Amino acid sequence: MSYIAEYIWIDGTKPTARLRSKAKVCADGTELGLWGFDGSSTSQAPGANSDCVLRPVCDVPDPIRGGDNRLVLCEVLNVDMTPHASNSRAQLVETAEKYASFESLFGIEQEYTFFKDGRPYGFPQGGFPAPQGFYYCGVGSDEVWGRDIVEEHLAACLDAGLEISGINAEVMPGQWEFQVGPLGPLEVSDQLWLARWLLYRIAEDYDISATLDPKPVKGEWNGAGAHTNFSTKQMRENYDAIISACEALAKNPQEHIENYGAGIESRLTGSYETAPWDKYSYGVADRGASVRIPWQVHRDQKGYIEDRRPNANMDPYVVTRLIVDKVCSNA
Ligand code: ADP
Ligand code: MN
Ligand code: MN
Ligand code: MN
Repeated sequence: MSYIAEYIWIDGTKPTARLRSKAKVCADGTELGLWGFDGSSTSQAPGANSDCVLRPVCDVPDPIRGGDNRLVLCEVLNVDMTPHASNSRAQLVETAEKYASFESLFGIEQEYTFFKDGRPYGFPQGGFPAPQGFYYCGVGSDEVWGRDIVEEHLAACLDAGLEISGINAEVMPGQWEFQVGPLGPLEVSDQLWLARWLLYRIAEDYDISATLDPKPVKGEWNGAGAHTNFSTKQMRENYDAIISACEALAKNPQEHIENYGAGIESRLTGSYETAPWDKYSYGVADRGASVRIPWQVHRDQKGYIEDRRPNANMDPYVVTRLIVDKVCSNA
């Protein structure tokens, strides 16, 4: 007997990396080992020196193939076993270890948009649907599009053992969200990348593409973000630590904007539940602030904060690293 391991990795496409994968048939009982690929086809190596190395970092049951098959998230290494330049996970490992005593937790809200025939799923050919207002958390065939895919994705994530914590229809037709966490920075990031892969893979069977475009339709339509909820042990115990974290994030906010996903200025306009990208702010229950303190957190005087700035197309290894680094080094 043998099993199939789907090796999944993050490529070198700029400005936004894409997911790649390929399958390996493994003899029963064999360990998941190192593997390689042609980096010249993924913007990760020149043709004359094209070999890159895949090292498994997180493997889960494969809910698509079922049985003993596995999904294997990998990091990319150079042939000398150093992290490849595109490997943002390696940097997060360092930061996560440095600040492990803070027991950081993240819950990430991944928004995305289905596209079919070159337009958002639910948009009529050559025109626009009714303005936003009834689509968010809607029900009925005049309000939501793609629920069958969304439900299949949720079931697949659960079957894979991912800590997916919810789903909801979003403000624009064809737009949805799932949440992963709360988990530590590495775990939430690995699982978010695996959940993204499952989303693309399942939508493929419906001839629909799921995109993380931060502003898929220009004009009077919500963009797509990846609100990043964050807490340390201290923040889960007292409110002063909540305020300190909000203040720490006020230091050099431009560093965050530059690393929270390509095209962020097009989404963080100051309208559509966003704060303007060039002005940092925080507030209780304020969905027009960069960072929101949920009202229950204010009532309980402890809990977590929500960084609303990250784009849907952000790299969670980068976003969680910047937040842990800034908040913990200023605590
Ligand atoms: P919103 O009201 O912004 O749509 P969601 O319910 O979509 O919020 O997401 C809230 C996220 O916050 C979830 O992913 C949840 O796991 C996460 N979360 C809850 N408690 C904590 C905590 N203490 N630390 C970090 N994340 C948390
Ligand atoms: Mn949400
Ligand atoms: Mn949302
Ligand atoms: Mn949110």
